[in-house]
Amino acid sequence: MARIAFIGLGNMGGGMAANLVKAGHEVAAFDLSPDALERAKSNGCEIADDAASAVKGADAIVTMLPAGKHVAAVYAESVIPNASKDAILIDCSTIDVATAREVEKQAADAGLAMVDAPVSGGIAAADGGTLTFMVGGTDDGFEKAKVILDPMGKAVIHAGDAGAGQAAKICNNMLLGATMAATAETFALAEKLGLDLQTFYDISSQASGQSWSMTSYCPVPGVGPETPADRDYDGGFASALMLKDLLLAMQAAKNADSYTPMGAEAADLYQRFVDRGGAGKDFSAIIKMIDDSWKA
Ligand code: NAD
Repeated sequence: MARIAFIGLGNMGGGMAANLVKAGHEVAAFDLSPDALERAKSNGCEIADDAASAVKGADAIVTMLPAGKHVAAVYAESVIPNASKDAILIDCSTIDVATAREVEKQAADAGLAMVDAPVSGGIAAADGGTLTFMVGGTDDGFEKAKVILDPMGKAVIHAGDAGAGQAAKICNNMLLGATMAATAETFALAEKLGLDLQTFYDISSQASGQSWSMTSYCPVPGVGPETPADRDYDGGFASALMLKDLLLAMQAAKNADSYTPMGAEAADLYQRFVDRGGAGKDFSAIIKMIDDSWKA
């Protein structure tokens, strides 16, 4: 069993660290929030005084932080200067591709193996150990990281070289945001055209218009399988996080000189929804704004 440093024990990291403890690993945890540390302690983690103390002597270092600036600072100040030469560094946060590549280069320059390993799946998947990890890094880095990630996920997939995990994550979520917005406006139109929405679901979910946003995560309450739409759009994947991922995708598209008009439209819609107070609602709640826009 490994000694693992875990930095960032928030909504996602708290459950992930608990699953590493359950798998028999020794976990040294650090977070700036005393509440997060208290929860980690009750889940069997050892609490470190600071990030550097957690990192020293660890076989693996896992980070689950809010954004690129936090990841860049924690790796430059605490992880890279204190990690053992044979440790594997694993950043599971969702951050911009450019920062992921820059931090991995800094680690490599210091002789350290690092991968980016962002996740698909929300808080329930983090608690339940059913995340999907998309991993960017060398073959050797991937093999070392996979052993650590396995108890936290249902799938650990090697996406390619450094930054490829982040690239896969934001491409997937750009597609998800765009298909959800398209699914929402389609149901709004179907209703205005007098279609029964369950009947339209039965047709379209078996026809060429189907997508995961329609078939598995339908934004209309009472239609299709149970989803956050049936709980007034509570739980699930917050619209603020969808907006974060869409803006990361727009930044990456700009850097890569890639034309992404549907992604841009989805980013604009989610920005307006968040500005109107929808940040905490599941991302399928975009249907409410689309309906309101039409009525306005
Ligand atoms: P969160 O805000 O709940 O947790 C982040 C934690 O990092 C906080 O506890 C914060 O105190 C800690 N932190 C910040 N700076 C720190 C530092 N310098 N040192 C130590 N700790 C520090 O966020 P979350 O919902 O757990 O998300 C974490 C990452 O996972 C984000 O990048 C997010 O985009 C991604 N993600 C979230 C979800 C989700 O459903 N919440 C799903 C997929 C991916």
